[in-house]
Amino acid sequence: MKGIGVSPGISIGKVFLKEEIEIKVEKKNIESSSDEIAKLNDAIEKSLKEVKSIHEYALKNLGEKEAEIFSAHKLMLEDPEFIGLIKGKIEDENVNAEWGVQEASNNYISILENMDNEYLKERAADIKDISKRLINNLMGIENISLSTLEEECIIVSKDLAPSDTAQMRKDKVLGFVTEVGGRTSHTSIMARTLELPAVVGVKDITKAVKSNDIIIIDGDEGTIIINPTQDEINAYKEKRKAFEEFKNKLKELKNSKSISKDDHKVEIAGNIGTPKDIDKVIENGGEGVGLYRTEFLYMDRDKLPTEEEQFKSYKIVAEKLEGRPLVIRTLDVGGDKELPYLEMPKEMNPFLGYRAIRLCLDRVDIFKVQLRAILRASAYGNVKIMFPMVSNLKEFRDAKQILEEMKSELRAENIPFNENIEVGIMVEIPSAAIQSDVFAKEVDFFSIGTNDLIQYTLAVDRGNENISYLYSQYHPAVLRLIKMTIENGHKEGIWVGMCGEAAGDERLIPILLGMGLDEFSMSASSILKARYTIKNISKVEMENMIEEVLNLETPLQVKQYIDEKITFKH
Ligand code: PEP
Ligand code: MG
Repeated sequence: MKGIGVSPGISIGKVFLKEEIEIKVEKKNIESSSDEIAKLNDAIEKSLKEVKSIHEYALKNLGEKEAEIFSAHKLMLEDPEFIGLIKGKIEDENVNAEWGVQEASNNYISILENMDNEYLKERAADIKDISKRLINNLMGIENISLSTLEEECIIVSKDLAPSDTAQMRKDKVLGFVTEVGGRTSHTSIMARTLELPAVVGVKDITKAVKSNDIIIIDGDEGTIIINPTQDEINAYKEKRKAFEEFKNKLKELKNSKSISKDDHKVEIAGNIGTPKDIDKVIENGGEGVGLYRTEFLYMDRDKLPTEEEQFKSYKIVAEKLEGRPLVIRTLDVGGDKELPYLEMPKEMNPFLGYRAIRLCLDRVDIFKVQLRAILRASAYGNVKIMFPMVSNLKEFRDAKQILEEMKSELRAENIPFNENIEVGIMVEIPSAAIQSDVFAKEVDFFSIGTNDLIQYTLAVDRGNENISYLYSQYHPAVLRLIKMTIENGHKEGIWVGMCGEAAGDERLIPILLGMGLDEFSMSASSILKARYTIKNISKVEMENMIEEVLNLETPLQVKQYIDEKITFKH
């Protein structure tokens, strides 16, 4: 069977089939709503206790970031709006508390599930988790905890709530398989943090296995083998051994430089979204941060962050990097990232609309606050500024001018900052790549944002699964734009990096090295593998292949070419 591999590694073990007890909540008319409210209050209290203990467990075993979800669960259980909605249903409709909880959460869930935003859609799982806990407690059903499993096993379940995953003991749970879920669901994110192999989206797996069946899961390929033959077990044991050995080998590269076989040095940096992410970048031997997506500071809140709040976040990261570069990207909202409190207009084509630098040049008030905060942080580390979604030179000049004004303000206020702070742009719109010769004369660096560059070059919405087969970093047109940008940057003596997902693509790294890319910025977990790849190839050999690659006709040919000619064994 096949699913989506969301957390790499191989596990072989006995199935623990977590059967969902189908709880049917019936609507009952009640006589005294005050009795029901009292029952509800008790259930909330019990649920709060349970969530608090999961929170503590997660803090100890998973880390702050993962535990945050359970702070959100706690907040939800105390949220006057959510609880008020349940109580309102009980009182106004004279119904039982279980029914009130189910109705109120269904309201929330259907709003979230209909959102166009993948992240918020996934949050419906959190509401389901809380409401199930509340209903179980109202009905006197024990909430099963996966922290009490006695035997080593692989959990198979229709779905796993984030609270289930958080309680998994790493010494007992060897991995898990679910029927639903995607790469960005919290359950998958936690599996990666726990380094537990996991496969999601395996249709009907709960019907295909029984508890105690033997199962193999491959969290890279998304493969599931039920009751394997001895030969299959042996083959996967070999694969697992190779995976473990490779992981250990990678750890040894943590403190080494990123140098190719023929002594060409590049920089491998990490992408971060919040200040906390910097720890993982450092742990994985990142040589800096090539992209700090600051928009997360503006999300999950109801008003704009102040200059002081922003300054603190940027300063922490700058200091932790101890002189290594930190590229802070100015606010990039719009497209698929909304800020509810900004009341942004509904658009026919949000990805072609009021987004990123366009919004900042319109809302100069917001932009100025951020620029001041970044400038102030530049006194504490090697900070650089990067503008996103620049499509014409005037935008860059206007942004730069506002930056100069902010420098003057800080100077007048005697606030320290780096006078020579580097200012660059993301090259993520084809016009910027095509005119990169012109831009290169004015900017201090380029960082190629392939996530958007691909979508705009190929006219393929990066989030639309129906056309995702057309979205490819191997498209020769995309590769030509990348090469052109690197060459034009180098002609003017500026450095060129890449912070789109393609920078961490093992297959593409050799090609990018051959084209002369100076900096590769990627998610923390890809850094060591990328360094390993760089160390095992020669830049000159790659250079000699570039022309041939760029003359191939289709993305598939490029992929096949790389697989045939370049890919080396781990
Ligand atoms: C990109 O477009 O490649 C990029 C890195 O930015 P984001 O994914 O935040 O749009
Ligand atoms: Mg982008």
